[in-house]
Amino acid sequence: DVTRRLGTDYYAVFADIPGDDRAVWERAQGFVDEVGDRMQDAWDRAEYPLDLAQRLGELDLLNDGIEHPDLTRFSPLAAGLVNMEVSRGDGSLGTVIAVQGGLALRTLALFGSPEQQARWLGPIARLEVPAAFALTEPDHGSDSVSLETVARRVGAPSTGSGQAGWVLDGAKKWIGNGASGGVTFVWARVDAPTDDDHGAVRCFLVEQSTPGYTGTVITGKASLRGIHQAHIVLDGVRVPGDAVLPGARSFKDASTVLYSTRSGVAWSALGHATACYEAALSYAQQRVQFGKPLAKFQMVQERLAQMLEELTGMQLYCRHLADLELSGGLRPTQASLAKYHNTRAARRIAATARDLLGGNGILIENRVMQHMADIEAIHTYEGTESIQALLIGRDITGMSAFA
Ligand code: FAD
Repeated sequence: DVTRRLGTDYYAVFADIPGDDRAVWERAQGFVDEVGDRMQDAWDRAEYPLDLAQRLGELDLLNDGIEHPDLTRFSPLAAGLVNMEVSRGDGSLGTVIAVQGGLALRTLALFGSPEQQARWLGPIARLEVPAAFALTEPDHGSDSVSLETVARRVGAPSTGSGQAGWVLDGAKKWIGNGASGGVTFVWARVDAPTDDDHGAVRCFLVEQSTPGYTGTVITGKASLRGIHQAHIVLDGVRVPGDAVLPGARSFKDASTVLYSTRSGVAWSALGHATACYEAALSYAQQRVQFGKPLAKFQMVQERLAQMLEELTGMQLYCRHLADLELSGGLRPTQASLAKYHNTRAARRIAATARDLLGGNGILIENRVMQHMADIEAIHTYEGTESIQALLIGRDITGMSAFA
C-alpha cells in the first residue's frame, strides 16, 4: 500500500498520481515487499541474484519510460516512481533497472535496426537476456568522449575472406551486467570511418559468448554489492556486419542515452533518501535517552525537519522532471540539475540518518549504512557531481570549462 508512506510526502507531491501510474507504482512496491531480506543477504555476500533481477522483467518493471511500439508504455512519472520505489527497497536492484532498462534497452530501442529489435527487445525487456551498456573505459570515465576501443572493418567481399564484419579491440570498466552471460552494447571508435559512419563513434551489439570477449566481475566493492559490474577486455572480438546499430553514429548518441537516464538517477536518490528518513524518524520515536524518546529533543526535531526539507525538495524536482519530460520540454541540463541536487541531498540525508541511529547506525542490518554506501555509486555514475556542474555551468554561462 503506497499510501501508507504518505507521511514522507509532506507536500502531497505524489497524492494525485493517475490510476495507470499508480498501478505500476504499486507493482514496484509489491516487488520490494516480495524481495524482503534476500537483497540484504545478497549485499552482505556481494552476490548478484539474477533471479530477483529477472523478476523485475517478469513484472514488466524495466521499461524506464522508453517509447517504442513493441514495449509497454510507461509514463515518465510511472518510470520515476518505479526507480524511486525499487531503490528505496534496494539500490542494487535500482541499478538493475538503470542498466538493463535505462541504458541497454533504451540504446536498442533508439538505435537498433528492425531486425535487432525484433530479435532482442522482448528478451531484454523481460530480462531473459541480461544486457549491458559499455561506454566507460579504464582510462576514460568522465572523458568517455575520448574512448579508445577500436572497431575495424574486416572481410569485405572484395578480399574474398568471407562475410564483411567488424573486429573490436579495447577495454571497458564498471559495466553493469557485463559478465552475466547476455549481450553488451559496446561503444567504439571506428578505425578509418567511411561516409556511411557519419561520425567516428558507433555502437555494436556483442554477445558475451563471442570469442575474445572476457568479462571479469569487479570485486571488493563497498557499494551496490548486490549487482555485478565487470571489467571487459575485447581482444580481436569478431562480430558480423549487422552487429552495428544503424542509428548510433556518434558520441552524441551515447550522450542522448545518458541524458535520459539521469532523471532516473534523481528518482533513485529520492528512494534512498526516503528510506533513510523513514529509518531515522522511526528510530527517534522509539529510542529513549535521558528518560525520553530522542524525538522529544529539540535538536533531534530540527534535524528531522532539515531532512524533510531536503526530501521535499527532491520530490518536487522529481515530479516536475516527469511533467517536463511528458510535455517533451525537458532539456538535458535540467535532468543534470535534478541529478546534481538529489544525489547531493541524498548523501546529506543518509549521513544525518546514520548519525541519529547512533552506534546502531553502523550496523548493516539497519540498512541506513547500506543506502549510504549505495548512494556513493549513483553519485558517481551517469556523470559525477562535478561533471553535472560543468554541464549546467556551460548551459548558464555559454562557456565550456570541461578541459
Ligand atoms: P574520473 O573521471 O576519473 O573522475 C574522478 C574525479 O575527478 C571525480 O570526482 C570527477 O568529478 C573529477 N573530474 C573529472 N574530470 C573533471 C573535470 N574536468 N573537472 C573537475 N573535476 C573532474 N559506465 C558504463 O559505461 N556502463 C555502466 O553500466 C556503468 N555502471 C557503473 C556502475 C558503478 C557502480 C560505477 C561506480 C560506475 C559505472 N559506470 C558505468 C562508470 C561511471 O559512469 C564512471 O565511473 C563515471 O563516469 C566517472 O568516471 P571515473 O570513475 O573514471 O572517474
